[in-house]
Amino acid sequence: MIRKELSEVPEYVPGKSVEEIKRTYGLEKVVKLASNENPYGASPKVFEALKNFRDFHVYPPKDPIELRERIAEYVGFPEKMIVVGAGLDGVLENVFKMFVNKGDVVAIPIPTFPYYEILAKIYGAKIKFLRRKENFETAEFDERAKLTIICSPNNPTGNVENFEFVREVVESVKGIVFIDEAYAEFTEKRLTKLAEYENVIVGRTFSKAFGLANLRIGYAIMNENFAREYMKVCPPFSISTIAILAAIAALDDIEYMNKAVKKIVAERSRLEKALGKYFRVYPSEANFLYVEAENSDEVCYELERRGVIVRNLKNFRGVKNGIRITVGKPEENNFLLKALEEIF
Ligand SMILES: *Cc1c(COP(=O)(O)O)cnc(C)c1O
Repeated sequence: MIRKELSEVPEYVPGKSVEEIKRTYGLEKVVKLASNENPYGASPKVFEALKNFRDFHVYPPKDPIELRERIAEYVGFPEKMIVVGAGLDGVLENVFKMFVNKGDVVAIPIPTFPYYEILAKIYGAKIKFLRRKENFETAEFDERAKLTIICSPNNPTGNVENFEFVREVVESVKGIVFIDEAYAEFTEKRLTKLAEYENVIVGRTFSKAFGLANLRIGYAIMNENFAREYMKVCPPFSISTIAILAAIAALDDIEYMNKAVKKIVAERSRLEKALGKYFRVYPSEANFLYVEAENSDEVCYELERRGVIVRNLKNFRGVKNGIRITVGKPEENNFLLKALEEIF
């Protein structure tokens, strides 16, 4: 009785957990550099804002207007163009619900974030995988696509897309261009301004730079008409009041987020150089590094049993011998480097 589309859908495989690795190898110290989480956590203002929360028995608001106003101010677009969702993943699902009919072409440059392919398959889309260049910038587009996905900075390769190229895509395609900017805060080379185009949707999240991954809150910038229709497909009450209060408090403390980003960006440079001793390392505009090693499976295993979890990308479409390493705190990165020294 299950829809036949689901037989084609791969399961989303998350990074391994610290608990799992501790148990498997009997380790006391395990460092996880596999899910692009922010090692500095949320702002103290977030903890303060939630300290006295007691309304667990009350439904959240249908439309968190104050949060949408604050996001509008943060991204520089009108509040009527801002929608929110249960994480950027939740936003993405709502966007697929809005636009993708069975048989529509969804264009996805690979390698990239696997959830796009999962959603496209759930909705019975025809997927057109787009080629990338040597430096992983997208190399082509498909004018017929109902939905084109651009992830910039791209997960897992860390590169940003060229602004003028994406503008050309936006002006050439018949359909919608969804720009996933989950890592926008870690780069200056943003594409956010393209949300001025009627057929562009820019997605963002509080999960990465703001350190709120567990609370499931993301948002998108889209034209006013789309934003109104979005409210029809968005499941009611999908964002908790806790998430709303936390996101507002996080926006009250941009300084804290900026400081964390600055530390991560500094560590990113240090780690990029240090990893160059062992791997082919690609430059990154996000909070992770993409590296290639001929024996990537073995490297991941050897790291794991020494208590370092990184992301083996062997199941990522279009990746060969790739590993994604989240930039941690200095001491976490040192733990990784020490393990690598031992292995090599
Ligand atoms: C982490 C991530 C997401 C999902 O973010 P949530 O807001 O936690 O759902 C979406 N897109 C990309 C590229 C990501 O890396």
